[in-house]
Amino acid sequence: MMRTVIALGWLVAVTLSPTAASAWGYQGHRVVGAIADRLLTPAAKAQVQQILNEGDTRGIDLRKAAPWLDCVKSVVRHDDGRFHYEVDPDHLEYEVPCTPFNAARERARMVDYVGRNWSTCSYTPDGFERGCHNTFHFADVAIQRDSFDRNFQGTNPHDLVATISAAIAVLQGKPIPPPFPFSIKDKKEALLLLAHLMGDLHQPLHIGSVYLDPDGRLVDPDVAHKIEPETETIGGNAIQDGVAVSFQTLNLHHEWDDIPTDLGDAATSELVDAAKAVPPSPGLPEAWPVAWATDTLLVAHDAFKGLGFKPTSPPAQNKWIVTFDNHMDYLQTSDAIKRKQLAKGGARLAELLNAIWQ
Ligand SMILES: [Zn+2]
Repeated sequence: MMRTVIALGWLVAVTLSPTAASAWGYQGHRVVGAIADRLLTPAAKAQVQQILNEGDTRGIDLRKAAPWLDCVKSVVRHDDGRFHYEVDPDHLEYEVPCTPFNAARERARMVDYVGRNWSTCSYTPDGFERGCHNTFHFADVAIQRDSFDRNFQGTNPHDLVATISAAIAVLQGKPIPPPFPFSIKDKKEALLLLAHLMGDLHQPLHIGSVYLDPDGRLVDPDVAHKIEPETETIGGNAIQDGVAVSFQTLNLHHEWDDIPTDLGDAATSELVDAAKAVPPSPGLPEAWPVAWATDTLLVAHDAFKGLGFKPTSPPAQNKWIVTFDNHMDYLQTSDAIKRKQLAKGGARLAELLNAIWQ
């Protein structure tokens, strides 16, 4: 009974956060931004306010800025090669976190950003060209690994960690380190990227991934030194939750994107306190993205603990069903992990900006 109640609670959360396909849903991104807003030094806060409110945005803080990188997903490429921002009439709720950017000049900025970053790499997850900018949100390191390393499968020069490093360089006024398949036009764009991607970086399924054989057994792409396409779970998007599947197709990735509903979409004092207790990062900011990705990968180990995988019936390629050793325990553990990770994301976004604008 308890299980049913919780499953329904998750369903409601999914209905209310339609952008869940992209990490944390917008609520999680806003929470991360809001925590960072609270922890900025006065010098960094002044810079953030000035940069984010250039152009036609007004009164934007990191909380409002954080969903921007998902809002650009409304930019579509037409057959003639031109890009357009298109509101989906069937999903007007997608626009909720995007209203701060709906002035003409800000829409134009989104269209321009997607156009510049569309073909800097090839990304065809379902056989169609999806635009390189869609790869900036994640890496897929096998959970058998204990650290984030560029030599591992599931990393690439246009993954989440590389994009964060590029955005840091732009804010520091330095050239983007090579290889640089990014076009980040100015500091505003860099800050919009960072405000979002520091959230993604702390969603464990945006860094750690499982690769599975047709029977649902774990495979290791670093042993073969290549990823067999049929083993890809797309960050858990290809793993359905059998418990909820009779109501609505839920997948493991989406379930991790949803945050506990009591958190709303701002910074609770509980999370701000947790963020203040996050230990400072050692070394120079340039080294932080990789270190943070390693930290998240270790959290991903816990996020996959107590899970099993089996084929769907009938079996289908790149589709599995998740099983739980103990579903109640898993829900409690994941709730606690999410709170901790949101606090870390906010703390580290502020730490980074405070270091850049000392
Ligand atoms: Zn994202």
